[in-house]
Amino acid sequence: MARLIKGLDTKLIHAGEPEPLIGGAVTMPIFQSSTYEYAGQTSYHDLRYIRLNNTPNHAVLHAKLAALENAEAALVASSGMAAIAATLLTVLAGGGHLIAQDCVYGGTHDLFVEEFPRYGLAVDFVDGDEPATWREALRPNTKAIYVEAMSNPLLQVSDLRAAVDFAAENGLVSIIDNTFASPINFRPAEIGFDLSLHSGTKYLNGHTDIVAGAVIGRAGLVERSTHTQNHLGASLDPHACFLLHRGMKTLAVRVRHQNESALKIARWLEPHRSVARVSYPGLASHPNHMRACELFDGFGGVLSFELAGGLDAARRLMERVTIPISAPSLGGVESLITRPATTSHSGMSAAERARAGIGDGLVRLSIGLESSDDLIEDFEAALGG
Ligand code: PLP
Repeated sequence: MARLIKGLDTKLIHAGEPEPLIGGAVTMPIFQSSTYEYAGQTSYHDLRYIRLNNTPNHAVLHAKLAALENAEAALVASSGMAAIAATLLTVLAGGGHLIAQDCVYGGTHDLFVEEFPRYGLAVDFVDGDEPATWREALRPNTKAIYVEAMSNPLLQVSDLRAAVDFAAENGLVSIIDNTFASPINFRPAEIGFDLSLHSGTKYLNGHTDIVAGAVIGRAGLVERSTHTQNHLGASLDPHACFLLHRGMKTLAVRVRHQNESALKIARWLEPHRSVARVSYPGLASHPNHMRACELFDGFGGVLSFELAGGLDAARRLMERVTIPISAPSLGGVESLITRPATTSHSGMSAAERARAGIGDGLVRLSIGLESSDDLIEDFEAALGG
């Protein structure tokens, strides 16, 4: 009888796994082979070759990722940026225009404003909270709308349902970066997004030991993105596939712990005398809290905050905390702390950061799997005195 695979937790372990098991191996082996015996394929993209994203290690991940987000198809990529770039080059091909939420991951922002013009592509940024203003940004060559599930680093939650409707009304492709939410907290296809993108480097892998990306969504679009990626050469190495696959099996238990711990820490930080402002969609004070409650199953493991003492206090805090490691990135088992102005968003100009609300003293915290009580004690000591 076919295995019963319904719930997210069961999908993480069993969806897409080979049946029968290869050589009886309970864990998917690494296929360290760059090429595969020719089997009469008629299309270049169907040849079994490591760069064409179709080895057994790729295939398992594609099936598992699509199942997780209840989408038609998926593709892994050599990084989150590779997934974003290949997808947008595909969707915007031929001089297209993109409407994007105004506060996105710094690397994505740089891709849009530095690289796109070199390829004849254009972008206009809009306020993700004000759908009534999006229409003004439409051009005859607009091809897609791009949002992030929870924006980096301020955790804004755009009007995601409006983005899907706006795309449908205007013949656009709706694209969302779902990295911060992860499939545990949000599955974009369920509300109608065409494509969901991930930095697999973050929650999907969860162990801070690889770089990877993913494109999940409508089969036709994923196939077009695959062909672009095959030509650009951005496939994921089988060993990295194995590590991504291994990490994904514990995604649900990790993310649920991180949801709980981040909420507890955000609630502790908010009333603290040294803290000026906490941005976390799980807090009732967050401007998009009600929307986040309606859309997400959890609020994620990342929060950002500003201290009453500004930049100097932020620097002092980062020197004094003993558990979080000062490093960019997020979504791993270790808590990481960073100032986005110096790391993830350093590519933006100071004026662009100021417009986006990213002050020099803004601190971003990615909660790992340590005890939340230990983290709170560590912050109390670092903030005091
Ligand atoms: N999307 C988001 C929201 C990110 O935070 C990042 C990286 O920090 C990326 C995409 C890019 O991912 P990668 O570093 O795997 O290329």
